[in-house]
Amino acid sequence: MDPHLIPYAERQAPRYTSYPSANHFDAAVDAQIYRRWLGSIGERATLSLYLHIPYCRQLCWYCGCNTFLTRGGDSGDFVTTTMMEIDLVASALGSRTVDEVHWGGGTPNVLSAAEFLRLVHHIDFWFDILPGARHAIELDPRHVTAELARAYAAAGVSRVSLGVQDLNAHVQDAIGRVQPFEQVRDAVKTLRDAGLNELSFDLIYGLPLQTYADVARTIQLAAELKPQRIALFGYAHVPWFKRRQRLINAEALPGVSERYDQAELARRMLCELGYESVGLDHFALPSDPLAAAARASSLHRNFQGYVANESNAVLGFGPSAISQFPGGYAQNISTIGAWRHAVEAGTLPIARGHALSAEDLRRRAIVQSIMCSLEVDLAPWGGWDMFPDAYSDLAPLAAAGIVEISGDALKVPSPMRQFSRLAAMAFDAYASPSATPHSRAV
Ligand code: SF4
Repeated sequence: MDPHLIPYAERQAPRYTSYPSANHFDAAVDAQIYRRWLGSIGERATLSLYLHIPYCRQLCWYCGCNTFLTRGGDSGDFVTTTMMEIDLVASALGSRTVDEVHWGGGTPNVLSAAEFLRLVHHIDFWFDILPGARHAIELDPRHVTAELARAYAAAGVSRVSLGVQDLNAHVQDAIGRVQPFEQVRDAVKTLRDAGLNELSFDLIYGLPLQTYADVARTIQLAAELKPQRIALFGYAHVPWFKRRQRLINAEALPGVSERYDQAELARRMLCELGYESVGLDHFALPSDPLAAAARASSLHRNFQGYVANESNAVLGFGPSAISQFPGGYAQNISTIGAWRHAVEAGTLPIARGHALSAEDLRRRAIVQSIMCSLEVDLAPWGGWDMFPDAYSDLAPLAAAGIVEISGDALKVPSPMRQFSRLAAMAFDAYASPSATPHSRAV
């Protein structure tokens, strides 16, 4: 990494899966506002359903998700409560047309095949799932079984995302997640045997003890399994926010320069292996809809990361799940007990959120454009005169070659795409040095 870039790489920046970021949500959005937003969805609107399964069988030390340990036996009650939450939400809705279902977590495959299908049938009861709807599930490869794979295929799941992270034993030991390559390979075969052929892998760089050679080996082995998509995330070490990360030896973490070089190595290898860069940190084979959307500059970004198509609203179910409407965001209560208590009392289990102002919408569009297309034309928003603070924040980045400014246009050159979050942050009216710390920009 060029040493003059190091101070920029060390800065902290949000991931911008929403604008404003979820740490700016507050209790001003409550169940009443959520109910109003549900009722205001037009009859012809399309919905995306997000089901958050908060349980895992082991808690990986690096994980920043809202998850809880299960030893089994919790998931039956959880499914019943989620069905009750679906009843509450669906009965308040203006539209029931669904073009996307996404299962995330946590670990959706802690649910048994019978529990998963019970929830699917309940969704089918309340909603009209469009033919060809996108249906994705995130799975832990250590717990993929033939029975589960058959259940997913029978339910119409079209895409499976596997948490692969790194494929080297010493790195897996250092992050508390041991899954040899053979286990991932067997999970892939089980899924493909069931007809689940659209696969995505999540990989991570910047992990403890991880070297360039480890990153290269992981990319090589992962590509042998031919997933259509690969997401390459930088490990975010935020132990003040996620206590379990205190189990990670911070002294074994690669430095900022090494992180940057690891990401660049992975990017170069993936491009040589035939993948196309998508947004900040995704890769897809040229035939994949995500690559096509990136080429057509029609990519979108939401809480699931980059998506090729966007529904008119996202409805989140389960503890901590976030719903997204044209008017704002609403987030469920995070703890399982309090979420269950609210649902069983017949209350929409909303803890917080954010109602979007006209100014938020304007800035959100700009942030989205930078995060998805690495560029934005400010002319429709009145040019730089309307964003003098952003202009002065970006001036040093332009001097460092991280962004290019030409007329009303801002561009992040492709070799600088790792810095996109910094460019987006210049337009973030909520960003402040005293705000909750985020992960490093690179
Ligand atoms: S990485 Fe996945 S399996 Fe591990 S704790 Fe986080 S959600 Fe659970």
